[in-house]
Amino acid sequence: MQDCLFCRIVRGEIPAAKVYEDDEVLAFKDIQPQRPVHVLVIPKKHVTSLAHATPEDIPVFGKMLVLANQIAADQGSPDGFRSIINTGRVGGQEVMHVHMHIVGGQEPVGPMLKR
Ligand code: AMP
Ligand code: ZN
Repeated sequence: MQDCLFCRIVRGEIPAAKVYEDDEVLAFKDIQPQRPVHVLVIPKKHVTSLAHATPEDIPVFGKMLVLANQIAADQGSPDGFRSIINTGRVGGQEVMHVHMHIVGGQEPVGPMLKR
């Protein structure tokens, strides 16, 4: 995906504060952190959203979930974190490349949704 922001980060065309990388997964700090720890974990392969996921994506999405705790702990959230994947218009997704937010820090993140 030529113009996708996160594909451009994967290709190194846009700088990012990378915190984890392997052949399938990249994690980098969110540019507008909502909590002291705020990392985005993405598949290197372009997948637009969870609404576009296929069975072929199961291994990489599984890897993202399994990596989350280590990334959170490394970044300063050793006692848990919140993982969020926004999907589509209703989910409030702004960047159309699947990304899992990992948010945390020393203090509890708070209620899951604003009431
Ligand atoms: P979402 O609303 O779930 O699509 O979240 C998109 C997230 O991407 C937001 O939290 C933005 O702050 C973050 N973001 C946008 N551009 C960049 C960038 N160049 N580097 C890191 N994070 C970004
Ligand atoms: Zn992309």
